[in-house]
Amino acid sequence: MHPEGAASAAEFGAAVKEFTSALGEDAVLTDAASLREFGDPYAPPEWANPQPALVVQPASLEEVQAVVRIANEHRLALWTVSRGKNNGYGGSAVAHPGSVLVHLGRMNKVAEVNEELAYAVVEPGVSFYDLYEELGRHGHRLWAAVPDLGWGSVLGNAVDHGIGYAPNGDRAASVCGMEVVLADGTIVRTGMGAMEGSPSRHLSKRGFGPTFDGLFMQSNFGIVTKVGIWLMPRPQVYSSCLVSVIDDGDLEALVDILRPLVLDGTITGQPGIFSPLPRADWVSGPWTLRFALYGREAEVDLKIATIRDAFAAIDGATVSENRYHGQPPQEASQTDKVHAGVPNQDMIDEIGLDDPNLPLGHTVFSSIVPNTGAHARAITELFRRHMRATGLPGGQSLVVHGRYITNLGLIAFPRDDRGAAEAVFEIYRTMVLEATALGYGEYRTHVSTMDMVAEQFGFNDHALLRTTEKIKDALDPNGILSPGKSGIWPSRLRGERGL
Ligand code: ADP
Repeated sequence: MHPEGAASAAEFGAAVKEFTSALGEDAVLTDAASLREFGDPYAPPEWANPQPALVVQPASLEEVQAVVRIANEHRLALWTVSRGKNNGYGGSAVAHPGSVLVHLGRMNKVAEVNEELAYAVVEPGVSFYDLYEELGRHGHRLWAAVPDLGWGSVLGNAVDHGIGYAPNGDRAASVCGMEVVLADGTIVRTGMGAMEGSPSRHLSKRGFGPTFDGLFMQSNFGIVTKVGIWLMPRPQVYSSCLVSVIDDGDLEALVDILRPLVLDGTITGQPGIFSPLPRADWVSGPWTLRFALYGREAEVDLKIATIRDAFAAIDGATVSENRYHGQPPQEASQTDKVHAGVPNQDMIDEIGLDDPNLPLGHTVFSSIVPNTGAHARAITELFRRHMRATGLPGGQSLVVHGRYITNLGLIAFPRDDRGAAEAVFEIYRTMVLEATALGYGEYRTHVSTMDMVAEQFGFNDHALLRTTEKIKDALDPNGILSPGKSGIWPSRLRGERGL
């Protein structure tokens, strides 16, 4: 097999030789069994599952530069992942069949931890576990926000707009100062980092002129090799809180009472409102709101009293809290750990993803809606209506930010059932179209649906996507970097766009 875009199998063979001599033999994987490992882990057999044609694993900045040089020379498409654990959205599967997977797991250094100014600098291969252990090893009094599953890359999650739950969990917003390799091999440092030796490189997001960090997120404009990520100082008290309501109809009240508490800073971080997991009835049910409080004892006392008061307006609502003076241990609940930056994999068991009798795959319907009860209800009803019709298991969580909610509708399917997987993606597409009709856009999607999601952002004849593709062509004239990522295609492959 040789990638489309390479002139011939012979040229592809020559490229493999060059990759091997630049990176070393064990950094280049070509055998079918290894390549299968880098597809979509949830794709049923024989389902459309574009595997890479080749996997290359650079271990340094210079090796990343060598990879783009070779790709340019042979017009090879690359597809970059950091650790490739983005499973519900396709894992390491590529958008353009035959792409060469650039897996950055070997670049796994925590380059710096700054206790005084509360940030770390990480390479792409650093997982949430790695960062947690590094902070612990050196006795740092800093916490990193973690997502539900800790095995992914801190950098990969940040550049894909991932969400954590503790303060600074809006990870893209906590990125400060990137190092990026462009398609032509140029190394760019963003913000203050553009000034040689600046001590403010990971402190101020703005340098002089336009701000570029966002340009390298959910795009294919460069390979990000390092980011600064802001951390939170360890609070004196950490309180993990739950509010439970029994009536499905209390969702609106839950959202509308929570919103002012988030907007005025009583609650920081990203609260989540959950329906029970897993579920298959999809009619109605109880809701649990989880969030955390951080601060001095008296401050947390005052906040919890305010919160109890506010939720007393809902009949039968219960408010509970677990207080810690430090990070919770591994035996603590997922909720307690996840709001305090303790990485874990508990969600896999909670959803039953790896049940040996019925291993499940999943994808996520991930819409942004305004932070009001009425909008929370509208997206909930849309999601439930389709889930009821499928009878498939899944779950819903509404991650609440100040002004908007990220609705995460998890849709699961038996991993070996091709028909079920196809039905799920069919239903997913219908959900996306119905969400568009309500003005709700997806913030992230599976690699196979990036074009159709990009298509929904159609203002002024897709002026934003057309602008994005102009930038793409200027920065990457040979179209080598992650063609198809977020629906962005380079000019030579624009015909590949599918819906
Ligand atoms: P995680 O392991 O945290 O789940 P991934 O490594 O799967 O994250 O990355 C998620 C997505 O982010 C990838 O599919 C890719 O599009 C993008 N991405 C990841 N790492 C980089 C990087 N170093 N440079 C550019 N884009 C990246």
